Amino acid sequence: MSPAKVSRKKNRTKYVFVTGGVVSSLGKGVASASIGRLLKSRGLKVSMMKLDPYINVDPGTMNPFQHGEVYVTEDGAETDLDLGHYERFIEDDMSRANNATTGQIYHTVISKERRGDYLGATVQVIPHITGEIIERMLAVARREKPYDVVLIEVGGTVGDIESLPYLEAIRQFGLELGPKNCVYIHLTLVPFIPTAREVKTKPTQHSVKELREIGVQPDFLLCRTDRPLDRKVKEKIALFCNVGKEDVFDVPDVDTVYELPLIMEREGLGKRLLDKLGLRSKEPDFSQWQSVVRKIKHPSGTVKIAIAGKYVEVRDSYKSIIESFVHAGAFHGVHVELNWIEAERFESEEPAKLMEGCAGLLIPGGFGERGIEGKILAANFARTTNLPFFGICLGMQAAVIEYARNVCGMRRAHSTEFAPTTKYPVIDLLPDQRGLKQKGATMRLGSYPCFLTRGSLAHMAFGTDAITERHRHRFEVNNRFREQLDQKGLRFTGIWPGGDLVEIIELPDHPWYLAVQFHPELKSRPTHPHPLFRDFVGACLKSGKSAQKANNSMKKLATVIEE
Ligand code: GLN
Repeated sequence: MSPAKVSRKKNRTKYVFVTGGVVSSLGKGVASASIGRLLKSRGLKVSMMKLDPYINVDPGTMNPFQHGEVYVTEDGAETDLDLGHYERFIEDDMSRANNATTGQIYHTVISKERRGDYLGATVQVIPHITGEIIERMLAVARREKPYDVVLIEVGGTVGDIESLPYLEAIRQFGLELGPKNCVYIHLTLVPFIPTAREVKTKPTQHSVKELREIGVQPDFLLCRTDRPLDRKVKEKIALFCNVGKEDVFDVPDVDTVYELPLIMEREGLGKRLLDKLGLRSKEPDFSQWQSVVRKIKHPSGTVKIAIAGKYVEVRDSYKSIIESFVHAGAFHGVHVELNWIEAERFESEEPAKLMEGCAGLLIPGGFGERGIEGKILAANFARTTNLPFFGICLGMQAAVIEYARNVCGMRRAHSTEFAPTTKYPVIDLLPDQRGLKQKGATMRLGSYPCFLTRGSLAHMAFGTDAITERHRHRFEVNNRFREQLDQKGLRFTGIWPGGDLVEIIELPDHPWYLAVQFHPELKSRPTHPHPLFRDFVGACLKSGKSAQKANNSMKKLATVIEE
């Protein structure tokens, strides 16, 4: 059997393929996720998949400056950050199956070849590589529940050499599925040229031409534009691109990405999509979604929070943290303004100045030595000035090091990640991490349970005794120092029972000082903000208010004295 001829018996799932043209960074992930939301809001069972054209097996070994955030799924896969958009928009968990890379596809095909699965054949891009890509697309639909629709986002831009096998695969697969069982959506750019005072459709025409040469005729065009496209422009695009004029949609810039599904719905994309797929559904229900968008767009106030990180120039590195603050802000009806501070600056500048006007501090995760001392100093400032503090992963490790050094008298306490011979390795590798030679996919990854101490901030936030949270790290709090740290007041309020490892630390004599070894930002959703982000923002609002009050009374006092 040809590898491309995969049996589709019993597979009733419909497919939506999303490609991108003209330039990168058009927001294809958010657009795809928004389409997912349109379907999900109609009660359909929806899953999504990202095809990544790079040769890395996964993004886990890439620098955040290169790739942005590595999104970790429940089952511990290190994936593209678009999976974060998918989870936030369709509010369903993704898995290892929902992201495939060229590295993985080739790895599988070459392993099969060595095993002898293709004996006698010359192994080629078509049909073997394309066949494996189709297998992966089928595998998503096959996961536990039968999905009504699977959306497949093809990474890269049409015209890239790397994406060719994927485009060929969606062409072949579309042919097998037949019309009514799949649609192709192409996202393009329609730029406004100031000197001509016109929007230009040529780049879109060229991009669609290129797609059609490969054999893919888009059913819908989504045109990114900074202004609404008038009827004539849409008609021109439709004519030149061989698409129905009612199937050309403009996708404007939005205040919040969560507004995009609402705009698409208003423009009629949801209905057209269902018609083309021959699907029926109940009336869409966007009520909850609408209410969140309203709260994001019309906050009643602002709270400023500092983030002391290492990759602050590339905001995509902290995508899920940023979104978690949007969700938590919406919950409290406020806008969370983030003050990004390069952690290294704490090593030479006054923390009070750097964090002026900030009602709280978050230290995110990270790798490598640069900035670690700055993070430790920042954690110290938050602890000693009663500023609400939230540490995540490396942020928690920095807080433990700070406490060991400055409260427990362990001079130069450190993590063995940065000081392998420190006398006080309060953060250290577990024995099973020590012997590892391979870097890829060998961290503690994915979901682990955690038991919470009753009466702790964490317990109050979650309102339950046991939780599960996602991980991505190698180093842990060293159990050898737990007693000493505890005696001096550091509380371990979350423990992974399986390995007896510290998951959460807190300081009882502080308004809100909490840090976690896991990554809560991966589980925050617009309609369900993560409990820790929610309560951290709540604590910042409280402390901001008391700081404001103290400031006002100082001012009053000063005027009285002057008078
Ligand atoms: N570098 C630290 C470790 O590997 C923290 C990782 C992180 O913050 N994600 O344990």
